[in-house]
Amino acid sequence: GPELDMMQKPLNTGAQVDTVGLGTWLSKPDEVRKAVKHALENGYRHLDCAYVYCNEDEVGQGIRESGVPRQEIFITSKLWNTHHRKEYVKSAVKASLEALGVDYLDLYLVHWPVSFINSGTPEETPTVPTFDYLIPKKDGKLQIDTVDPLETWRAMEELVEEGYVKAIGLSNYNIEKISNILKHCKIQPSMLQVELHPALLQTELVEFCHKHQIGVTAYSPLGNNVYGEARVVDDPVIVSIAEKLGKSPAQVCISFAAQRGIVVIPKSVTPSRINENFQDFILDQQDFDAIAALGTRNTRYNDPGAKDWNVEIF
Ligand code: NDP
Repeated sequence: GPELDMMQKPLNTGAQVDTVGLGTWLSKPDEVRKAVKHALENGYRHLDCAYVYCNEDEVGQGIRESGVPRQEIFITSKLWNTHHRKEYVKSAVKASLEALGVDYLDLYLVHWPVSFINSGTPEETPTVPTFDYLIPKKDGKLQIDTVDPLETWRAMEELVEEGYVKAIGLSNYNIEKISNILKHCKIQPSMLQVELHPALLQTELVEFCHKHQIGVTAYSPLGNNVYGEARVVDDPVIVSIAEKLGKSPAQVCISFAAQRGIVVIPKSVTPSRINENFQDFILDQQDFDAIAALGTRNTRYNDPGAKDWNVEIF
């Protein structure tokens, strides 16, 4: 419908991306295949994937089962931490392409500004990885590597030059780390993907990115529930605005981000929620401000550096 034509945001490459895409993290076996198929059959044209989600093969199956042509879909994947050295980057993207069953990505992101040691050769990169491969440990200790982010970025640029990917970007990078890339890059990042929702507004980071023609994608836009904390969609302020407007709390969270010029990738494997999430509407100033006031909480749910890896990321 016409409302969906407004639901696109331009990238600095000239490409367009749908404002609402489908997240695929933690979707259980078989669920994600069905979720992707359902989403594509119901209008979605933007999928957020990653090597580390260990389900890109199922996402690929869902794409094929939907019958939607490849070129109509915007597909993002992410370079995992074990592949930051330049000799691993191409093997990593090839593994994701093979799992997904496609011959290019629309967007490829450096997933985290943290590098892990890879004890295999690039040729040994599995198409769908195991946990041990992703989180390499020795004597129970995580094997952190030191790789110059500019080495990784240069290899990412080569993927664009060689046609493996249409655009490249970053995830979980702060202003300082993005600035370092901007200062030395040949190809500018097109996108920053970070955790962002009403309780984590990321105002300064969003302004910085938009000033530099870098798009922003909100991950965990509903505040997820992976870590067992209270979700943003259950917050009384969000719930009461949603009730007043005849919308769902998730629709309020998604539209709030979209209204700020941000791309949103809610994850669901529930057909009714997949449909519910694929929309945006304009909040009036009073409701917008009431939601933005939750930002003072500054709640970050997803910080594996603090929780598991013992490195400072943000
Ligand atoms: P979300 O904020 O998207 O929340 C997902 C949870 O909300 C699921 O439990 C889902 O349940 C539930 N949900 C979905 N829709 C609704 C709805 N309409 N009403 C109520 N509950 C709903 O969390 P994620 O952390 O998954 O973030 C989204 C995506 O962002 C990820 O899937 C991934 O693609 C990406 N991401 C990227 C990261 C990065 O480092 N770059 C890190 C984290 C996420 P159910 O599925 O059962 O319906």
